Amino acid sequence: MTDGRQALTRARVTIDLDAVAANYQLLTDRLNGRRPAAMVKADGYGTGAGPVARRLLVEGCRRFFVARLDEGLSLRHELSDHEGPEPEILVLDGPLGSSAEMRAGNLVPVLNDLGQVEQWRAEATSVGRPLAAALHFDTGMTRLGLPTSQAATLMEEPRLLDGIEVGHVMSHLASADVPGSSQPSQQLTRFQALRQRFPQGLASIANSAGIFLAPDYHLDLARPGIALYGGAPQPDRPNPMEAVVTLEAPIVQSQRVEANTAIGYGATHSTEQATILATVATGYADGYLRSASGLGTVAIGGVSAPIVGRISMDLIAVDVGHLDPNEVHPGTAVELIGPNRPVDEVASDAGTIANEILTNLGSRYERRYRSRTHSQ
Ligand SMILES: *Cc1c(COP(=O)(O)O)cnc(C)c1O
Repeated sequence: MTDGRQALTRARVTIDLDAVAANYQLLTDRLNGRRPAAMVKADGYGTGAGPVARRLLVEGCRRFFVARLDEGLSLRHELSDHEGPEPEILVLDGPLGSSAEMRAGNLVPVLNDLGQVEQWRAEATSVGRPLAAALHFDTGMTRLGLPTSQAATLMEEPRLLDGIEVGHVMSHLASADVPGSSQPSQQLTRFQALRQRFPQGLASIANSAGIFLAPDYHLDLARPGIALYGGAPQPDRPNPMEAVVTLEAPIVQSQRVEANTAIGYGATHSTEQATILATVATGYADGYLRSASGLGTVAIGGVSAPIVGRISMDLIAVDVGHLDPNEVHPGTAVELIGPNRPVDEVASDAGTIANEILTNLGSRYERRYRSRTHSQ
């Protein structure tokens, strides 16, 4: 991928769909063969919801979650030529006043409060047939989902669910990736109590990190996101997932500089000794976060080189004084994310998580999908 001899003319992202498939199978194995749903919200964490979902259909995935109605509608469109049973697409935001559009796209809303339950029941009444939905209970994250008091109301008045076919009962873990946290087990206990009262359909609570907690969290269906895209499910453990995203950008200019040369905006870095500097065609406008300025590394021909000075809008500077000068010229491919530069390391240098790096991958990058075993 980082062949320094082949000139690169523009920055590009390569998404390895075989790696997505391998990650899906690894998670399925961990779940004792129960195939999880796939989180493809935010355009598949920036990797492309359509190509990812099409490949996961081949791998036996039948349920996809998106956050927004519009994401659900475009995914339904992208999967429309799929042969076989129509995959289920669930919308985490719920109907949000767009019940008719949701139904027209054959999308399944996640119902997060009594208002949404009411909306969906009204939609079912108006079309005169039961409509599928998922019920989302808040068990401690306090973000989205029926709060305890509303869950109690639903228990007391089951009629509120008339016309709603509950195919899925879910909750979301706030701290599954926090080593030693007691919150996941508290949430699981609350969820199990709710599940007794709402035994319909499938139950789910585990995100990527939750899959790597005890099997008690696996329930009927897990909902991994970041692990499918190669992010480490547990920050304190070796990452068992395959890298999915490779980001490469060309060197635009390289130059010899003397000792004590100031580099970039604010002159935050000065060379200690004479060296060679490469200026690379990516920047914070491409989602290469400015907070990683002066931190982190790239890889050139598999050899690591430090980012120096401030990351600017379109460019970053890299000290390549230790590399063979013949390998470092305009057009040389620089690996910013990939096998030699895991996305989790990029994220931690920028003070964030892999999810934010991937969902910010810029629109100026050329995108390529790689798949050795299946056409898309
Ligand atoms: C985003 C999301 C997930 C997936 O989380 P990861 O940590 O990326 O695996 C699962 N469930 C819900 C409700 C989510 O919003």
